Parts: sequence; C-alpha cells; structure tokens
Amino acid sequence: MIFKDITDTYFEGIQISSHNEFEHEKVYYYEDHKSGLKSLIAIHDSTEGPAIGGCRFKTYDSFESGLNDVLRLSKGMTHKNNIAQVPFGGGKGIIFKEGKKSNEMMKSYADFLNLLEGKYISAEDIGISLKDIRFIKQYTEYVFDNVDPGPYTAKGIFYAIKRAISFTFSESLVGKKIAIQGAGSVGSKLADHLSKAGAIVYISDIDNSKLKIISDPNITIVDNAFEMQCDVFSPCAVGAIFSRSSIENLNCKIIAGGANNQLLNESVADDLDAKGITYIPDILINSGGVIGLTKDIMGRNEEQAESELMNIAIRVEEAMAIAKDQSMSIQAALKLN
Ligand code: NAD
Repeated sequence: MIFKDITDTYFEGIQISSHNEFEHEKVYYYEDHKSGLKSLIAIHDSTEGPAIGGCRFKTYDSFESGLNDVLRLSKGMTHKNNIAQVPFGGGKGIIFKEGKKSNEMMKSYADFLNLLEGKYISAEDIGISLKDIRFIKQYTEYVFDNVDPGPYTAKGIFYAIKRAISFTFSESLVGKKIAIQGAGSVGSKLADHLSKAGAIVYISDIDNSKLKIISDPNITIVDNAFEMQCDVFSPCAVGAIFSRSSIENLNCKIIAGGANNQLLNESVADDLDAKGITYIPDILINSGGVIGLTKDIMGRNEEQAESELMNIAIRVEEAMAIAKDQSMSIQAALKLN
C-alpha cells in the first residue's frame, strides 16, 4: 500500500504544485496493489468546512489527465458549495479505471478516506453509484449515503431552465424545444420534469440501455442532442464538450445543464456570448446534488431542500440580469474564470 501527500512533491514526472490548475491545499495519492485501487483526492479549499465532492471511477489516458481532472473538479466544488451556501469546502476524488470495479477496491477507497480523517467527505460521481457509496459506508464514516444526488441536481436544473426561458423569451417553457445530452441519473430525471411541464424534449445517449427505458411518448430519442436546433441545450453527460470549434455546430439560445467543466477552456464562454448563446455556468446550476447530500447534516427537511433548489433558479436569473446589463457572458460578469 502507498499513501502519500504529494502536494509539494515531484510525482509521476510532475511537480504537483507547479501544475497549471494547482491552487490547492492538498493532493493525496493512494495505491493498493491487492485491490487494484489507484486513486487521487484533491482538497481545494477547506476554509468553510470539510471538503466535499464526488468520486469518479474513470479511464484516464495518463496520470496527468487524472490529476488535471481532480484539480479542476475539486476547485469547481469550492465555488459550487460557496454559491449553494453550504458550509463545506471543495474536494474531489478520482479512481483510475484500469480494470473492473470490485468490493475490495471500494473497501480500499474507504481505507484512503479514513487516512484523511474527515478532511474530505465523498459522494458518488461518474462510475460510482449510491450502492457503491453504501457499501463503502460499512468501512468509513466519511461518505454521504443519505440520498442519490442525481434527482436533486435534475430538479435544480429544471427550475433554472424554467426561469432562464422566461427571462430570455418572456414565455413559459410550454412548447419550448429542449435537447438533453446524456440520459443518466441527471438527464433522465430532467427530461421527466420538462416533459411533465409541457416542453418538447429530445434526448441522446451513447449507451442504448439508458434510452430503452424511456417510455414517455413526449420525450424523443435522437442520435445527437448537441446539434439539435432547440431553445435550450442541456449537457448532462461529460465535460469539455464546448470548444471554439465544437460550438460552430450549436443551434440553441441557452445552454443549461448538469455536466461538470463543460468548457474546454474559460475563453469559450466569451465565444458563446459572441454567438448570442447564453451559457449558464455549471457551478451555478448544478448544485442541487450538494443541496440534497447536505440536507440532513444541515437539519433541512424535504420542503426546505426543495426551496433551496428553487433558489438556484433565482441565482441564475440574477446572474443573467447582471450579464445582460454588462453585455458580457455570465462567466465573465460573475468573474468565474
Ligand atoms: P451518469 O453517469 O448517470 O449519466 C451520464 C450519461 O451520459 C450516461 O448514460 C452516459 O452513457 C452518457 N454519455 C456519456 N457520453 C455521452 C455522449 N457523448 N453523448 C450522449 N451521452 C453520453 O451521470 P449523472 O450523475 O447523470 O451526471 C451527469 C453529469 O452531471 C456528469 O458530468 C456529472 O459529473 C455531472 N453532475 C452530476 C451530479 C449528480 O448529482 N449526479 C451533480 C453535479 C454534476
């Protein structure tokens, strides 16, 4: 077993603290040969409280790309928790997917969390399910296993899309075309809310099994939601999908979705603004999951959590008004770069 605080070290050919995404308190590495776990946990900022954020089980083509992901995502968590007004700092975990996930591996991840003694509390993210978290909970107290955050995230995005549409078009979302990329935990629930509220919903996923279970006749399955002509495009799959060249293919007025780190780089927010597309930054709109996960610890009941989800939409509308007033992107107006 290897457990290392790699913050100020030269590790895997990289001086961690000189990485261009680095502005963190701590970066830890853990490896366990027996279980096959290779994992990084980054703590960006714990000024407001212990760092919280999900753990990803994902294939990375190099150590550097995993490091880059965990640094960017943990920084995003600090901003997101701040905006959502929950008393926690930002952190993130990643597990390098180099084979199958196993119970042994999840147990090793619990050992890693225990070594950090609560400086970081983990939830799920891509590749890690609530079932995994509930298994890990048997070996550590440092996980959030109270709810599946996906439906909370979806609800927050739903409220925000409603407000964003009324701000932009001075109309309700009835009859508005909304294209969702990704029919996972967030995208599928979002599609349900939008469909029930009267929107025309399109959805795509690269995994056919996710689409097969959609039975609502008001939700149309398409090959590629990204290129749909629509009022709102909602990315609910993977990050880094908007680049200067990829946005040439966009045909929407508003981008409002749950995926983390949607912009390949921050300057794309200005490119979108120049194309007349309102980009609602992910950290502003996808904090519903954090609100769900922290509701019990903060003593909120379901009704109070719901009202916090509605507050996401109020913040989105305020941000849209500020950006409009200053004739710039929300990203620039809120100085989220
Ligand atoms: P998920 O893994 O349940 O679903 C993601 C779906 O996207 C999968 O079905 C996958 O097959 C699909 N997908 C991947 N690449 C695609 C592509 N190119 N085109 C279409 N579909 C594609 O994940 P989730 O929990 O629904 O989260 C979605 C996104 O939102 C992720 O980026 C996640 O980090 C982010 N997010 C999730 C939460 C949450 O509460 N679950 C909170 C904040 C942010």
